Amino acid sequence: MSVKDAILDAIFPKRLACYVCNSEAVTDENGVCEACAQKLRFCPPLQKLKETDGFAAGLLYTEAARAAMHRFKYGDAQYLAEFFASFLRPPDGVTFDTLVPVPIHKKRLRKRGYNQSALIAALVGAQYGIRVDETLLTRAKDTRTQTKLSVDARRKNVKGAFAARPCGGLSILLVDDVKTTGSTLSECAKTLKKAGAARVYALAACADELPYQS
Ligand SMILES: [Zn+2]
Repeated sequence: MSVKDAILDAIFPKRLACYVCNSEAVTDENGVCEACAQKLRFCPPLQKLKETDGFAAGLLYTEAARAAMHRFKYGDAQYLAEFFASFLRPPDGVTFDTLVPVPIHKKRLRKRGYNQSALIAALVGAQYGIRVDETLLTRAKDTRTQTKLSVDARRKNVKGAFAARPCGGLSILLVDDVKTTGSTLSECAKTLKKAGAARVYALAACADELPYQS
């Protein structure tokens, strides 16, 4: 162990609690206890998603992932960014100029104190050497929460919700927390492409199980 690692270990002791259920337990390399590890499901590799050049996600949004995501978004458990980011990696064979987190409206940002997708993007960016730009895409409209809306209503709800600065020729990797129908990521990609982006891929920490049931 290097001196730097030893110092970091002393300042930030390794977490002993499971990232998912938060109980103290022996955890695996993902920081998850044995019982929770059995409940985690991983997403298949690169998928198609409207308006994007490709989409990939880390965890399937099962009960276990949902519990961790809930603490991450609503319980101020910002350290969970590390857990979610650890399952994400940029698609192979593509060079990215910038990582763009899906923005939340400034009113929500004030209330929560952080944009969970930006925390994940920062860690993915650090890991893969891609800079993060939080100014490229902003949320122009404070949309209703999508949770209880139908696919069609979701699409209408996010239409025109985002604004992008000119991003001519950029290769962009979007980062979101949870993808359900994909309407938010598609709308973001559409907005960035209208502003000149050459390529937009999307990553989500979690994705709904529905698209994978066949
Ligand atoms: Zn657990």
